[in-house]
Amino acid sequence: MELSRAVKLLALLAAAAVFVRNLPHFLGERAWDAVSLPYRMARLTARPADQALGMPVQGVRAGRVADTWHAPRAPRRLHEGQDIFARRGTPVLSATDGVVVNIGDNHLGGHTVTVLGAGGRRYYYAHLDHWADGLVFGQPVQTGDVLGYVGTTGNARGTPPHLHFGVYGPAGALNPMPLLARGEAAERQIGGGAVHQVARQAIRMNPKRVFTRRFRQARGRHPDLIDNSPNTGGE
Ligand SMILES: [Zn+2]
Repeated sequence: MELSRAVKLLALLAAAAVFVRNLPHFLGERAWDAVSLPYRMARLTARPADQALGMPVQGVRAGRVADTWHAPRAPRRLHEGQDIFARRGTPVLSATDGVVVNIGDNHLGGHTVTVLGAGGRRYYYAHLDHWADGLVFGQPVQTGDVLGYVGTTGNARGTPPHLHFGVYGPAGALNPMPLLARGEAAERQIGGGAVHQVARQAIRMNPKRVFTRRFRQARGRHPDLIDNSPNTGGE
């Protein structure tokens, strides 16, 4: 009696495992992304936040980005991010692994994408000229995936094309600059190859040794500033 119950339970568990394993196949990729979104979000939130980011505009070096963090913006707000200038249509790349949690339009940001990353951080990409083909809510993305293209939508109309890049932790807006500098330092330490891939692998391999001195230098130049004021959605 006991044995047959155990066998039935095992058979049930095995069937459940096979079912879950094949869910993406049964549902199709898009539906699977939607169904698994809460799980992905919970898992991302539980992971420690990224200490280095990929450059979100193709072909731009972190050292060439003028630091405009907390520059005054009318009326009575501060710039809660970095503006990264590039030719219109330059690919905008995800700075992290994560899931797309918003694709939308707003008055300041124009065409925007928000990606939830590790540690519950939200990465905000604004003023896009247009979105990447087929980009959908709930889509998992990896560092370096194309989210859209540099433009002048929202309150960037009439300015040179740029990406407004914002990073929001649980406590508020963070300066993206030190995170970008560390990503680039990781690439320099390891050598050629795609900055995004290298930065990510470096963190996994050995977070302490890989970054060492350059990390400290980057941190010294750009101390992490945490803004606890309410998010004004400043662009
Ligand atoms: Zn901006």
